[in-house]
Amino acid sequence: MTDPSAEPLWLTQGRAHVWRPYCQMKTAPAPLAVARTEGVRLVLEDGRELIDGMASWWTACHGYNHPHIRAAVQAQLERAPHMMFGGLAHEPAYRLARRLVHLLPGDLDHVFFAESGSVAVEIAMKMALQYWINRGVTGRTRFLSFAGGYHGDTLATMTVCDPEEGMHALFAGVMPTQHVRPLPLDADGEVVLDAFLAEHAHEIAAMIVEPRVQGAGGMLFHEDQVLRALRRLADRHGVLLIFDEIFTGFGRTGDLFACLGADVVPDIITLSKALTGGTLPLSAAVASARVFQAFWSDDAGAALMHGPTYMGNPLACAAANASLDLFEDGGWAVEVARIDCALREGLAACRHLPGVVDVRVRGAMGVVEFDHALDCGALSARFAARGVWIRPMGKVIYLTPPFVITDAELARLTDAIAAEVAAGA
Ligand SMILES: *Cc1c(COP(=O)(O)O)cnc(C)c1O
Repeated sequence: MTDPSAEPLWLTQGRAHVWRPYCQMKTAPAPLAVARTEGVRLVLEDGRELIDGMASWWTACHGYNHPHIRAAVQAQLERAPHMMFGGLAHEPAYRLARRLVHLLPGDLDHVFFAESGSVAVEIAMKMALQYWINRGVTGRTRFLSFAGGYHGDTLATMTVCDPEEGMHALFAGVMPTQHVRPLPLDADGEVVLDAFLAEHAHEIAAMIVEPRVQGAGGMLFHEDQVLRALRRLADRHGVLLIFDEIFTGFGRTGDLFACLGADVVPDIITLSKALTGGTLPLSAAVASARVFQAFWSDDAGAALMHGPTYMGNPLACAAANASLDLFEDGGWAVEVARIDCALREGLAACRHLPGVVDVRVRGAMGVVEFDHALDCGALSARFAARGVWIRPMGKVIYLTPPFVITDAELARLTDAIAAEVAAGA
């Protein structure tokens, strides 16, 4: 694809030493060398510019290099780039916690910071396990998760991912197994899950779900009634409910958080990805007052013994505060609604093309699903040749663009998809 003579020296020299993510390195195309980012564009070392349809794994919601976020990070860099969070406190984290709690529904009042999504999920799982231990309830040692789900790549989070569809099937038998059930998509589904919980709730600490959209597991959508059913079942059987909003949080589905749109308050919510507007790594597990109360004690042993070294990093918190400033005027909702319309229109042409089984759009997220697994690396390279950055996954080609993308840029993305699908993706 890329002219090898144009390959920058740093790539040639470093290539043997960088272990790339999610990739059979022996056969995969070379990675694209990016010199810089700007707005919704990746500028390659060879001078080409790609319109980014991914927002860098769903993080860069305001586009790259946003001046307001950059200024906030620069100012914080002068004051204090990092300090340990044990025994010390700083304004960016404390202000961010207060602002997040204000935005989240119900009594989701207690923010535990970490640095990646997987670790936030690990912490949410640990909170749920210890919630029962601290309350003197024994035996609630397992989790209930859902087919199609994805919650991270670390050992514990792998166990709550979809065991067959997910990326971790290789590890079957290595880790403890959890209960993975179908989502209760209708009344019958709710009856089935109700019966399952009647039998197993006594051994389950919490259920975990990605509300509205199961992302990395295949961009699968479900209705808000599913989430209300989960809340009902969790309450009936005394199981905690964790919403993993690492993908759906910060506007992507059309509401600031999926739980707000669905009008369901989980017991714990996990956030990351777009939290800093795609500038620095940061995540959070936010617990309800009820969960937090189980840890509030004169007994030191009841404390949550967790503390990632870089938790609440001041630069990352400054970036997150600046990103929240950008959400404050509500303009994002108008943009997401606009993108929703444009994606519906732009992807409609794919619906009747060969191999396509579904085209679906929700907020700033458009999906074309196929009846077969795609050659993702090769497709991605063909998209790059058309001037767009789109990285298909499994059976889906999807778009999750920055909210600031223009209609013309969006059309470049949807036209590229329609053309590749017509050519036989
Ligand atoms: C990306 C993602 C994670 C994992 O986050 P990392 O930062 O990659 O560890 C967990 N849950 C969901 C829903 C995600 O989309």
